[in-house]
Amino acid sequence: MTRQTQYDYGACHTCGERLEERYVKQDFWLKDTLLIVEDIPAGVCPQCGEKVVKADIGLWVTKLLEDSSQVQKARTIQVPVVRFVEEGA
Ligand SMILES: [Zn+2]
Repeated sequence: MTRQTQYDYGACHTCGERLEERYVKQDFWLKDTLLIVEDIPAGVCPQCGEKVVKADIGLWVTKLLEDSSQVQKARTIQVPVVRFVEEGA
């Protein structure tokens, strides 16, 4: 019996495992601002973690990010910013 999913994401391009539909967080840079969009439906590989987002979902996310009222009312989180330092430098 096959499991019911909203969309068939097919197989993983990296390892060939069947992709499962999950809701994921994705980070985006809007000029100098880091934004996180949560609950994006995506195909996720249970084997290697490869993520595939459908083209129309991607377009919808782009539209959402262009809507400054949506961005302004969004909750914010603090993120650590680590500067890369070479070992021994
Ligand atoms: Zn995979």
